[in-house]
Amino acid sequence: ETNVMGTEAVLRAALRYGTRVLLASTSEVYGKGSRIPFGEDDDILLGPTSKSRWGYAASKMVDEFLGMAYYHEHGLEVVPFRLFNTTGPRQSSRYGMVVPRFVGQALRNDPITIYGDGSQRRCFCDVQDVVRAIIALSLHPDAPGRTYNVGNTEEISILGLAELVRDQLGSASEIVMIPYEQAYAPGFEDMQRRVPDISRVQSLVGWRPEITLAETLDRIRAGMIAEVATSKL
Ligand code: UDP
Repeated sequence: ETNVMGTEAVLRAALRYGTRVLLASTSEVYGKGSRIPFGEDDDILLGPTSKSRWGYAASKMVDEFLGMAYYHEHGLEVVPFRLFNTTGPRQSSRYGMVVPRFVGQALRNDPITIYGDGSQRRCFCDVQDVVRAIIALSLHPDAPGRTYNVGNTEEISILGLAELVRDQLGSASEIVMIPYEQAYAPGFEDMQRRVPDISRVQSLVGWRPEITLAETLDRIRAGMIAEVATSKL
């Protein structure tokens, strides 16, 4: 609710000053997903309100509806975009983000913790690529009035990610599997796959991801080593 009110406050202010609004939404809105890859105009199937996980998707969907209403009714230049898994240096691991968690665990030679059996897959996009997409969308005259997927299309399983991190960092970490019941609150549903169709943003602004996951892992590792060095001074 606060989220919607905040969004509406921003939309009103933008309308007053005639400013374009970049509306950051999320791949969570695809919910359980109806088909792979996820297209912006696909039907959406969320879980029940008894599962709090879906509240985030529902509130972001309301933001998108609100933004589109301002576009249609007031001509406000609203550009909603749905971010898929994004990663890069200085991403916090505090909220469970898997890539910085695995890199941190590998650097400390701690066990790398896979939730479930690691067969779930994700596409990780480097934050620098994501920023380029957002800037391009912010500048293109025809961007407003439609929502855009922004993410990488290269899939990797979470087990594959654990192995890649361990091997690339030359870590002695063991890879362990933690049952979902222990990793998450009861009733949590993890997505098995989440892949964006990025043809819309690609055909409008010519964007596609350019940084490989291996390069991103190197940059995250370098950032973490620098951070540890600084904190020990
Ligand atoms: N995950 C994992 N170990 C961790 C943290 C996350 O196996 O220590 C898994 C998580 O269950 C999910 C995937 O990694 O399947 C991506 O999780 P993240 O929270 O980074 O993003 P999500 O895709 O869930 O939004």
